[in-house]
Amino acid sequence: MTRAEELAAALQHVESRLTAACTAAGRARDEVTLVAVSKTWPATDVAQLAALGVRDFGENTDQEARGKLAAARDVNWHFVGRLQTNKCRSVASYAELVHSADRRRVITALGQGAERAGRSVSVCVQVSLDGSAARGGALPTDVPELAEQLAGTPGLRLAGLMAVAPAAAEPAEAFARLFDIAQRLRRDHPTARVISAGMSGDLEPAIAAGATHVRVGTALFGGRPPLVG
Ligand SMILES: *Cc1c(COP(=O)(O)O)cnc(C)c1O
Repeated sequence: MTRAEELAAALQHVESRLTAACTAAGRARDEVTLVAVSKTWPATDVAQLAALGVRDFGENTDQEARGKLAAARDVNWHFVGRLQTNKCRSVASYAELVHSADRRRVITALGQGAERAGRSVSVCVQVSLDGSAARGGALPTDVPELAEQLAGTPGLRLAGLMAVAPAAAEPAEAFARLFDIAQRLRRDHPTARVISAGMSGDLEPAIAAGATHVRVGTALFGGRPPLVG
């Protein structure tokens, strides 16, 4: 099998999972955006998936993202990784949606970058569901304040929330908590509709719980980084 055939088969499999999960949840397939998380995989893979119709790609470091921006036209770039303030200016110059804002300094820096680039960047607050902010993500109690800051920052648009299910938790239970936090957020910010949840291993419970964006790496690209060379 060529790499293109491999990617096409993987995409078809992920698409059938998405369709089945949407059907099971009584939702339309177009309510859920597939974000192909291409981290560690080459720009040629991005080009091939884009040729197959994938429109959204995610990266978790600025450096890697920059190396792939030219790989495909008319695609949306998503930033899903931990943000350092010194990378925010760069990220705000190309990202359509930043999933992972989790502290005030990052939001301030993204806003400055967006303004400088003359862009409007959509941003989610990343929420930690394991009770600690150590591995990225704001505590649920800090979400309202960060959302206010985001909503009031020129150049940024409060899009919604993102979370990763904690390894120790039942994904369905973790995503239900995220959905509750998202419902509360929408009382004050009705247009903040994005719920970015679900990865290769848990996209079904995420879609059942209302995810609007799933971030899929392994199930599309494979289980380990390619050999260099
Ligand atoms: C790598 C990554 C993903 C994709 O994870 P897979 O399990 O490979 O599908 C999703 N979200 C974030 C934040 C990631 O870093």
